[in-house]
Amino acid sequence: MKSLPTWPARRAQLAQWYAGARRDLPWRRTTDPYAIVVSELMLQQTQVVTVIPYYERWLAQFPTWAALARAPKRTVLKAWEGLGYYTRARNLHALAKAVTKAGGELPRTEEGLRALPGFGPYTAAAVGSIAFGLPLAVLDGNVMRVLTRLLAMPDDISRPQTRARLQQVADQFLDWNRPSEHNQAVMELGATVCLPRKPLCLLCPLQESCEGRDRAEEFPVKSRAPQLKRTETVAVLCHGDRLYCEQVQGKPWHGLWRFPDFDPQRMDRGEVLATVRYGITRYSVTMEAVAATWKGRAPVSATVRYLAAEEIGAYAFAAPHRRLARLLMQS
Ligand code: SF4
Repeated sequence: MKSLPTWPARRAQLAQWYAGARRDLPWRRTTDPYAIVVSELMLQQTQVVTVIPYYERWLAQFPTWAALARAPKRTVLKAWEGLGYYTRARNLHALAKAVTKAGGELPRTEEGLRALPGFGPYTAAAVGSIAFGLPLAVLDGNVMRVLTRLLAMPDDISRPQTRARLQQVADQFLDWNRPSEHNQAVMELGATVCLPRKPLCLLCPLQESCEGRDRAEEFPVKSRAPQLKRTETVAVLCHGDRLYCEQVQGKPWHGLWRFPDFDPQRMDRGEVLATVRYGITRYSVTMEAVAATWKGRAPVSATVRYLAAEEIGAYAFAAPHRRLARLLMQS
C-alpha cells in the first residue's frame, strides 16, 4: 500500500461535509454518558430507524444509571424485547449496577472503559470519544467499508491482521482535536453515502482521493463462512386456552421465554401447527411447532408457566418464539 500524505486534506473535507449532512439523531442532542452508552449498545448490529423508538422509550423508562440499576431483570428484558442480541441488555443492566455502586460515573480512560461489561474496542472508542473527547478512533462495519474503499485494500477483513492494519489507518485518519465529530462523521459517511451497494460516490466528500471508487463494491473483501441449515421441533402444550412456556436458563436466550423443545420421551406428538424460520450465528433454522401432550405430569418449577394469550405480551420472549406465539394466536 502506498503512503498517503492526504489524510489532513481528507479530514478537512469530511468535517466540512459532516457539518452540513449530519442527521439529527436523538443521541446526538445529548452529552450524558449514560444516554450515549445506551445508544451505542442499541446501535450494535441494529439499524438507526429501529433503534430510535427503543432509545426514546428506554430513557423515559430508565432515565439514569440508578433507575436502570433498580429495575428488575424481567422489566429490563421486556423493554429490550424486539431489539435482539439480549446479551447487550444484560450487560447494560450489569453495567448500571456497577456504575451506581462505584458512585455513578463511568471511567474516563480507554483501559477503564475496555474493562466494562459488554465493552469491546469499538464501544470503548465510541463512548470514550463521544462522551469524554478521548482521541480514540472507532472501527465498525461502516468505517471499515469507507477505509478499505479509500485505499482499495484487497485484504480479507475477517483476518485479525487486516483489522489491526485498519485500526492503524483509522488512528491515522482521526482528528485528535475533534475525535467525537470525526468518528461520527466517518460512520455517517458509511451509513448514508458509502453504502454497501451502489455507493453515492458523486456525493462523497472524499471522491477525489478514493482509490477504490471505480470498483467500490469489490470492497471490503470478506471471506464468508457457509451458512448451515438446522431444523428444530418445539412443542405447543395446552392447558385449556393456556400455553406451556419456559424461561431459558443459558445461551443463547438466557432469561427470555420460549416454547419447549419437543421431547419424545416425555411428550406425545400431534399435528404441525406452524413453521417459523430464523437465523442465528451461522445457522439458518427452520423451527416446526407441533401440538403435543404430556405423557405424564407436566413439570412444575419457577421457570415454567401456562400463559394465557393476553399474558404473553407481558413476558419477554425470544424473537422466533414471539413470532410463533403470534401465529398460534392468529390460528
Ligand atoms: S468515493 Fe465512493 S467508494 Fe470512495 S469513499 Fe466515497 S462513497 Fe465510498
